Amino acid sequence: MLTNNPHITPITADAPMKADTHGGRAKCLQRLVRMDLPVPATVALSFDAVHRIANGELPDIEKIVAQFPENALLCVRPSSQDPDWGGPGAILNIGMNDARFIEYSEALGRDASAALYTRFVEAYAVHVARLDPDMFDDITSDGANALSEALRAYEDEAEEAFPQDPAVQLSEVLRSMARAWEGTSARLLRQAKGAPADAGLGLVVQQMALGLGSSETETGSGVLQLVDPETGMPQITGRYLSQSQGRDALGEGAEALYLTQDDRGPSLEDTVPDVYAEIIAHARAMRRKLREEMQVEFTLQDGRVHILDGVRVPRSNRAALRIAVALAEDGIISKQEAVMRIEPRALSELLHRQIDPDAYRDVIGSGIAASPGAASGRIVFSAAAAQASASRGEPAILVRRETSPEDIRGMQVAAGVLTERGGMTSHAAVIGRGMGLPCVVGAARMSFNLRKKVIVSEDGRRYGEGDMITLDGAAGQVLDGAPPMREAALDEAFTKFMSWADAERDIAVRANADTLADAALAQRFKAEGIGLCRTEHMFFENERLTVMREMIFADSVQDRRAALDRLLPMQRQDFTELFRMMAGAPLTIRLFDPPLHEFLPHDKTGMRQLAEALDLPVSDVERRVESLAEYNPMLGLRGVRVGITVPEIYEMQARAIFEATLAVSTEQAPVVPEIMIPLVSARREVELVRMGLDAVAAAVRAEQGRDFTYHVGVMVETPRAALRAREIAAQCDFLSFGTNDLTQMTYGLSRDDAGRFMSDYVQRGVFEEDPFHVLDAEGVGELLEIGVARAREAKPQVLLSICGEHGGNPESIHICRELGFSYISCSPFRVPVARLAAAQCAIADKM
Ligand code: PEP
Ligand code: MG
Repeated sequence: MLTNNPHITPITADAPMKADTHGGRAKCLQRLVRMDLPVPATVALSFDAVHRIANGELPDIEKIVAQFPENALLCVRPSSQDPDWGGPGAILNIGMNDARFIEYSEALGRDASAALYTRFVEAYAVHVARLDPDMFDDITSDGANALSEALRAYEDEAEEAFPQDPAVQLSEVLRSMARAWEGTSARLLRQAKGAPADAGLGLVVQQMALGLGSSETETGSGVLQLVDPETGMPQITGRYLSQSQGRDALGEGAEALYLTQDDRGPSLEDTVPDVYAEIIAHARAMRRKLREEMQVEFTLQDGRVHILDGVRVPRSNRAALRIAVALAEDGIISKQEAVMRIEPRALSELLHRQIDPDAYRDVIGSGIAASPGAASGRIVFSAAAAQASASRGEPAILVRRETSPEDIRGMQVAAGVLTERGGMTSHAAVIGRGMGLPCVVGAARMSFNLRKKVIVSEDGRRYGEGDMITLDGAAGQVLDGAPPMREAALDEAFTKFMSWADAERDIAVRANADTLADAALAQRFKAEGIGLCRTEHMFFENERLTVMREMIFADSVQDRRAALDRLLPMQRQDFTELFRMMAGAPLTIRLFDPPLHEFLPHDKTGMRQLAEALDLPVSDVERRVESLAEYNPMLGLRGVRVGITVPEIYEMQARAIFEATLAVSTEQAPVVPEIMIPLVSARREVELVRMGLDAVAAAVRAEQGRDFTYHVGVMVETPRAALRAREIAAQCDFLSFGTNDLTQMTYGLSRDDAGRFMSDYVQRGVFEEDPFHVLDAEGVGELLEIGVARAREAKPQVLLSICGEHGGNPESIHICRELGFSYISCSPFRVPVARLAAAQCAIADKM
């Protein structure tokens, strides 16, 4: 008996059926049956049964056919576990043959019957007999003539008559669909969508509700859903086409009826109001029972509604969020479930402008998707040109080989940044993400001739200064022209959704923010403080840069102090403003980190200007710049090494921090700064810097006659700092893992150069992911584990966190939470992503 075989079973309310044995479609149909919806009779074949068919082991077809009324036409549809994994296309009207053509001609009319048969012959020829699809191109006639021609073409091409036995037809359809699933290209395609290598396919055999015929009542088919798939707003959308089958109504050029009443033309609601109301009622019931916005596939036959299928409404990310919120607000799903339903990464689409999904994309190049969002602008090749463009109110795309701190001013005003070199944590990428500036880096397949001010697209088109291009920083694409855009969507649904996520979250999220503008963004995205304020960016403003250079060029400690004394009030003001803005929320200030050489000019004009400013001969300046050059500056005189060898810089910064602390502190609300030392690799470095900080603190206390507290922490961003975390932690209050440098140093992989070959490495499976993007759980992760364990041995309560870019990456956040970090800190625009990812980790733990 068929009904006792769970692998080939009629879909009844209590048949044993699960999405992971029979596929999502079979399971969904069972739910519809349980709801008593008018679903045509259906038999489900399990993954196992279909796998056997692919291997030549056919089931008893007669028994399947016997489940349906005699002479019924059937269709077969795929039922993969996750509908997104796809599957072979449905085949309709199985069972049609010469004898039934005559029978159906009587019932439906000759034309409708011929249309059913022709459609089947064509689908069978192409998808089952695998004949050339062009073979039907010459058929120009209609109705029964078209049918005769199709049958003749089949016979000529297949060298046999079209099979007449419905059981044979069904066996062949099942066999071809089963085999199609096991083919290499289908497998690769679904694996690309996240399906496991051994993902199974189920099939459903369903009695056709025809949608064609000459009856008086409305006959046809369509799809309907209760929301707009783009916005997620409640709105009945879909299409209906009289005298049609399957998804014909969605076809190009189909003369579909409107569903709801519409001034532009006749609607289903006008034509058959009762039927329309019934479909809407079914759709509402499906939403409630299936706990999801569903697209209803229906057929009308002789005035009766048949529900053939329900599929999850395909949706944009912003619609997905609104749908989840609405389902939770209607009490259909819990708030936790709503929070779990949105991919954290999908949020970045809501936080930025996007290229309209329907817009034509003329892609002229691609690189690493370094900072999401889309921007159009005219090409400029220097920071100065970007500023000039901004002053004219024209959006500009700054194109550079790679950016350096000197480009910051240009980046602040550019609409987007495109670089030839670089990777996920190169300068342009980090700064771009921090500012929410769309950014594509490492577009090395385009050619960049910056001297001649031209870039050439991958297909040979030339673009010069002033030409309009668009960056899609989420897709890593460069496009010609300015396609239409869609604005960010930080609406009420978003705010509500994020508040639900925050209620579940058990790890704090801070932002990496260097300026007041960043800090404002961080607050807008509800960061709980600043976990990394990179102070060096404060010295690149024009006025300060010259003083900074004077300081670097100083011959004596005295001269150096004199220059630093001029920087002190500016730096004090920076911190005062930041403390005020943070209004008591924590602010972690990292002491100066980059190589000094980064502050020096690199071209002739710059050298000349500096010579003028310092009243020195150009040759002197050139010599000094050259003498400060390093072969490998990222491993040279930078970070705490500058702090040890030129202690006056950290002293000035410490004084600025402490004086700002006192300026903003009140008795009721004291400010407690967190000072962080970069690039530490030895305990003694911490001791020395700490002694310096304590001395400055003591001096400020004495001068002002007021007390204050502060915390000192270390960035763990060299492998040695992780290994020696025990003795390092003993010297400080907190440790923050700088996983950008830690990844660079663990792999021996330059964060500024890796972009050139990273995609090859990932494509060829050397690295599963770009380790600057997703934290390497095995290698760098082990260093984190070691660091955490050893630090806690020395100081069980030591505060631990991450402030590398990985802090904004959902997979990496999971690792940080497992390690018991108090907070993660990431660029402001990734704060919502991090909040959601962290909430999902907490909910998953409770489930
Ligand atoms: C790091 O190295 O992880 C870090 C946060 O510092 P930066 O990116 O400024 O080097
Ligand atoms: Mg670093």
